[in-house]
Amino acid sequence: MKVVVIGCTHAGTAAVKNILGQNKNITVNVYERNDNVSFLSCGIALYVGGIVKDVDGLFYSSPKELADLGANVFMEHEVLSINYDAKTLEVRNLNTNEVFTDSFDKLVLSTGSWPIVPKIEGINSENVLLSKNFNQANEIIEKSKDANKIVVVGAGYIGVELAEAFELMGKEVVLVDGESRIMPKYLDPEFTTLAEKEFTDNGIKLALGQKVKGFKTEGNRVTHITTDKDEFEADLVIMCIGFRPNTKLYEGVLKTTPNGALVVNEYMQTSNKDVYACGDCVNVFYNPTNEYRYIPLATNAVRMGTLVGMNIEQNVVKYRGTQGTSGIKIYELSIASTGLTEGVARDMGINYGAYLLHDTNRPEFMPEYEEALLKLVYDKDTRKILGGQILSKYDLTDKMNILSVAIQNNMTIEDLAFQDFFFQPHFNKPWNLLNIAALRAIAQEAKN
Ligand SMILES: Cc1cc2nc3c(=O)[nH]c(=O)nc-3n(C[C@H](O)[C@H](O)[C@H](O)COP(=O)(O)OP(=O)(O)OC[C@H]3O[C@@H](n4cnc5c(N)ncnc54)[C@H](O)[C@@H]3O)c2cc1C
Repeated sequence: MKVVVIGCTHAGTAAVKNILGQNKNITVNVYERNDNVSFLSCGIALYVGGIVKDVDGLFYSSPKELADLGANVFMEHEVLSINYDAKTLEVRNLNTNEVFTDSFDKLVLSTGSWPIVPKIEGINSENVLLSKNFNQANEIIEKSKDANKIVVVGAGYIGVELAEAFELMGKEVVLVDGESRIMPKYLDPEFTTLAEKEFTDNGIKLALGQKVKGFKTEGNRVTHITTDKDEFEADLVIMCIGFRPNTKLYEGVLKTTPNGALVVNEYMQTSNKDVYACGDCVNVFYNPTNEYRYIPLATNAVRMGTLVGMNIEQNVVKYRGTQGTSGIKIYELSIASTGLTEGVARDMGINYGAYLLHDTNRPEFMPEYEEALLKLVYDKDTRKILGGQILSKYDLTDKMNILSVAIQNNMTIEDLAFQDFFFQPHFNKPWNLLNIAALRAIAQEAKN
């Protein structure tokens, strides 16, 4: 059997490794338009901020590693089009411009996503940059050297991380977002208020609740960015307002949701059973609400890519869905969330309950302990856990991974309240914070 994989960052790399690792008689051709595979964009802010010194550490695979596994790796090759009936594809070698045709028995689409670029005059100026791939990370580093005033547009986790990195490098930073809070999809106000304070305490200007209206330019450079409420000088602007799936190769042919992300079954097959898809070009099954959603995360991409490898010959292992679990460090604060926030549950009209726990990570008799804030969101009718958030100066983020397991396995607040967790004063309290939050949620429900 011959499999062609298009796109080789996280989803593609996982697919190639698992196809070749688990199936001996498969020929794999990989096409990637960049000159690298497996770039960890999650390291961009750390690279820009100078914390990652060894750039090679941002890659966990290489064209050579994939070739050594047996893949035919075509770097700097762009797939131009696909004939799904004839099972052929047209490819351009970006170095020679030669265009040729290849064929497949099965195809893997791991073409990922691209940052959303709003249609604003001046957006193509040389000092307005995007933050997605390795070349862009290098461009950000290069151009930020001479920039003093940097405006980051978009206060999702990417913009937030970059804003901190620039501030730590001594830049004057403005973080602009149309929403009234940073990271509103992942965190409720009790958490974002504390995180926002870290930014303002460190001199970052938060321009929240402001929509970008335009750029003032001189030649090919932006000098100011204008919002509906204010104007900011800018030597450099980074646009981080979200991602869209790369739809070009399948639009109008394979089944997608309105945002263009592919619909796949539990085995990662698209509406054409010989075409598999994984990563940021795919919708994921979101367990808290039992629906498909677009949640572009590396964690989802590597899981889906691995499943493609396991299922490419025959359907073996099913996808388990996601809770969209994510974590972030903002200055001293370690923050994580999983599943639904209270705000999202409210907007969805769910009959939810939420309990906000203020506590400490260790018994107060210990010489050192840190405050912790933990929120549990649950369904009042079924009592199932829907989501949670945690924030502390001590790294308690793994508790959201535990909660992710609880959500995925349909646990109720009663299940969580009496879940067996160990106690040892160095690490926690006799009741784990998750137990306590669930016990309080039960008590809260008993009063209602
Ligand atoms: C700055 C930043 C920070 C992030 N931080 C985190 C984090 O902390 N945690 C987390 O879980 N996620 C994080 N993410 C998200 C994560 O990086 C993405 O979810 C992940 O990259 C998706 O992987 P993918 O392989 O599906 O797609 P992509 O990374 O988009 O890769 C798709 C690949 O396909 C190639 N391609 C597309 N079309 C063609 C074509 N026609 N021919 C040939 N090749 C093609 C592209 O060149 C690209 O290499 C971050 C993203 C960014 C940008």
